[in-house]
Amino acid sequence: MSGTRDLDRRYVFHPFSMAQTHEQGGAQMMARSAEGCWITDDDGRRYLDAMAGLWCVNVGYGRERIADALADQARQLSYFHGFSSMATEPAAILAQRVIDKAPDGFSKVFFGASGSDANDTQAKLVWYYNNVRGKPEKKKIIARDRGYHGVSVMTGGLTGLPGLHAGFDLPLPMIRHVSAPHNIWTRHAGEDDAAFSARLAQELEDLILAEGPETVGAFIAEPVMGAGGVIVPPEGYFPAIRQVLDRYDVLLIADEVICGFGRLGHWFGSPATGMTPDLISVAKGITSGYAPLSGVLVGDKVWQVISGAGAAKYGVFGHGYTYTAHPVMAAAALANLDIVEEEGLVARAAEMGAYLNTALARAFDDLPIVAETRGKGLMAAVEFARPTAEGWQRFDAAQTVGPRIVRAALEDGVIVRALPNGDAVSFSPPFTVTPEEIDLAVSTVRKAAGAVCDALRADDAL
Ligand code: PMP
Repeated sequence: MSGTRDLDRRYVFHPFSMAQTHEQGGAQMMARSAEGCWITDDDGRRYLDAMAGLWCVNVGYGRERIADALADQARQLSYFHGFSSMATEPAAILAQRVIDKAPDGFSKVFFGASGSDANDTQAKLVWYYNNVRGKPEKKKIIARDRGYHGVSVMTGGLTGLPGLHAGFDLPLPMIRHVSAPHNIWTRHAGEDDAAFSARLAQELEDLILAEGPETVGAFIAEPVMGAGGVIVPPEGYFPAIRQVLDRYDVLLIADEVICGFGRLGHWFGSPATGMTPDLISVAKGITSGYAPLSGVLVGDKVWQVISGAGAAKYGVFGHGYTYTAHPVMAAAALANLDIVEEEGLVARAAEMGAYLNTALARAFDDLPIVAETRGKGLMAAVEFARPTAEGWQRFDAAQTVGPRIVRAALEDGVIVRALPNGDAVSFSPPFTVTPEEIDLAVSTVRKAAGAVCDALRADDAL
């Protein structure tokens, strides 16, 4: 093991990793440099990163222009904050550019440094909004199974993945979940989009009524669910959800941490999925991961309350981070958005997304353990399941079908992702990905899945 690998093994506490396994075996891969869609490790081996890091490196790696923007800003003004009405120029310019791209009805951005802190801010905004309005009971937040909203004390609970709750005493008591619109696991046989959407909206309404509408403050959802397995809502889903929320005065938060800034082939994911949110969270694609930066976009309805006379009783808005509106991060975001605009990368995400989705449908058509290939824009997934006479069945988590496919693909030099106990393998490459790179990613994962399918058959596990 190389010196730095050994340092990593001994001293780094890794996120979403098995503590004991890592301490014994060390890193799967140690990235050293990257260019375009390709990572080079400490042994000089190259990997095609079909996940854009963690769904974030939208403009690809190695952009001099963003590196220069970071360096220039660090030299000019390395840091200043936004507390007590202090301001910096890059943050002001960035806020205007974000609002310019956002759906109508948004006029303010609150900056943070991660998707988790953005969604934490959202929860506090919902509480503050309802306190100012004299509705102190209206605090519960409803999220969806398989949604991913972060890992903080609040957002780890909003995230609808049981593996993130067990061990941490989450979710907090004011959090509830409803079903995700999953074609394989929650859509009933023969149900069309309208009936599926209506049933899920009814489930939400039943929950709100059971809890008491006076206790429910907000519903949070990703336009297309990412980490939970690229779950695309059926036509009419968000309009049906919105009707229910409006009936009970419940806010809608769009978690656009992945979808925002082009991943669905549109600047924002909410309009592209029929979602009309009151609040929007962004992160990842705003800087393409070159710097940590997130934003909470506040819609006019909420802003009027926050900035109105009723809020005066609380004095200053008592929330913010040391790194809120960090000028160096904002400079990275501005250079990133320049690239996205000048190179027409949002349209390219749509074009390459269509290519990816077609390629997946074609390549995985003949594999018996594929329940579905799906996607929207430049995010896609293949759902693996056991075929039975009664329909699709989940593989036992212990069979780790998804993770085995991901590992085999990595050994062949392609990076994709699956949840530790999930069998949806996801693709989310940089927007600059080429058709040849997509073909390579798809054929490598197809080969890995074929080998795992053969192994399952050999073990009589199919
Ligand atoms: N929301 C969504 C939709 C995400 O995908 C993520 C991260 N994958 C988060 C929130 C949390 O972001 P972070 O890891 O930056 O806290």
